[in-house]
Amino acid sequence: MVKMYINGKWEESERGKFGLDLNPSTGEAICKFPLAEREDVDLAIDSAEDAFHIWSDKTSKDRARLLYRAADLIEQKKEELKKILVMENGKIVKEAGEEVNGVIDQIRYYAGFERKIIGDIVEGNTSKKKIFQYKIPYGVVVAITPWNFPVAMIARKIAPALLTGNTVILKPSSDTPMSAEWVVKRFIEAGFERGVLNFITGKGSEIGDHLVSHKKVALVTMTGNTSTGQQIMRSIATNMAKPILELGGKAPFVVWKDADIFTALKTLLWAKYWNSGQSCIAAERLYVHEDIYDTFMKKFIRLSKNITVGDPSHTDMGPLINNNAIENAESFVKNAVDDNCKIIYGGKKLKLKGKFSKGFFFPPTIIEGAKQKSDIIQNEIFGPIMPVIKVKNEEDVINKINDSRYGLASYLFTSDYKFAYRSHESVRFGELFINMPGPEVEQGYHTGFRLTGQAGEGSRHGIEEYIKLKNVYVDYS
Ligand code: NAP
Repeated sequence: MVKMYINGKWEESERGKFGLDLNPSTGEAICKFPLAEREDVDLAIDSAEDAFHIWSDKTSKDRARLLYRAADLIEQKKEELKKILVMENGKIVKEAGEEVNGVIDQIRYYAGFERKIIGDIVEGNTSKKKIFQYKIPYGVVVAITPWNFPVAMIARKIAPALLTGNTVILKPSSDTPMSAEWVVKRFIEAGFERGVLNFITGKGSEIGDHLVSHKKVALVTMTGNTSTGQQIMRSIATNMAKPILELGGKAPFVVWKDADIFTALKTLLWAKYWNSGQSCIAAERLYVHEDIYDTFMKKFIRLSKNITVGDPSHTDMGPLINNNAIENAESFVKNAVDDNCKIIYGGKKLKLKGKFSKGFFFPPTIIEGAKQKSDIIQNEIFGPIMPVIKVKNEEDVINKINDSRYGLASYLFTSDYKFAYRSHESVRFGELFINMPGPEVEQGYHTGFRLTGQAGEGSRHGIEEYIKLKNVYVDYS
């Protein structure tokens, strides 16, 4: 049983209602987790507010010391976390290891900002007047995380929030509470005091509104889909909490006629099938120049067919997260067929044998003939399905890639450096990867245009999302 951590205590006994955490490879429950009620939320928020004065009064050097310790503790036991990720999320072993290493790296990266948060002193309009601009923490931060990178998204939120002196209530996805609890345990072992970090579990649809709109909450940082982000925006209209919203993506992947085909293919296989296509920066629509279309597609189809799908401990690609994800993938395929697209490969849920017979497996799927306005080109798929469009001129392809409600990652493969430079200006996305794969790194600022959300994470810009400016005017004439 996963436990919540509220006001310095792990909930000792089972009480109230609980949810089930499933292994997506087998469809079986691996543990139960508590469904928090309003009273739990209130207690966690009160506790975080009480702790704020003491925590924010500490030096950033002291706060960083605890973050470094948490990172060390995670590193010492990282094999345990890897196993949980494979079981709870269905990640293949290699990708689970990369995520765990990423968590350790992120915490250390953010801890490295200790003693580097500096304000300004600005002159007044007449002599002997000054304005002191202090950079201070917001206060109580609610961090809400998704299941697709269940622990990386936690580290990316709670480490900068804590380093800058905020206190936190973390609510993880109901699909991945176990890995979240594991990470929180390491933070608590590291010595974070009562109230500084609280951990509650439960359905976002049931407690989310109360959690984010609470009058004591000053900032809400959430990663998830766009409709949830919009709901949160409506809820925080009541308390005016600052939003940091990292939402959906629909990354275009362009392979131009002069691209290095080997690099483009290698990157595409990663960008499409990493995490079974369940990534906000996944290649979601492929645009291939007509001059190389046949050659490129032949190779891409062959390599996609070679991808083994099944037990995440031994294959190239694991399951989708749950049955809703399977239904979602199947509905995209159905809409594509109704739209006269051609399914070149895949397209149906895989039925495996033995202990994986109830798992949520979907094969690599390639779809030709989509139109720019098709559902499959416009909406986030979040699975291993690749719709392809043939293109022939630069203006047309730039218009097509910018024609999206989302604006997170984008990819361009070309050896024409002038086209590459022009794309810096013309591509309206928060991230453009030219001739290289992602993912984003900590020193970059992960951000999006349009319905991908607000603000961003990573780099000094990401740290500054968690601090606000306070102005003190002084007349010493
Ligand atoms: P989701 O369904 O929106 O859930 C995200 C989190 O929000 C979960 O903890 C969820 O809790 C909670 N939640 C749901 N309704 C809520 C409400 N009304 N108020 C407050 N919280 C609420 O998203 P997901 O399926 O976990 O994640 C996939 C999405 O995340 C994709 O769209 C992907 O593109 C996006 N994503 C974006 C980035 C980025 O950096 N831009 C990174 C990773 C993922 P429950 O689990 O209990 O419902």
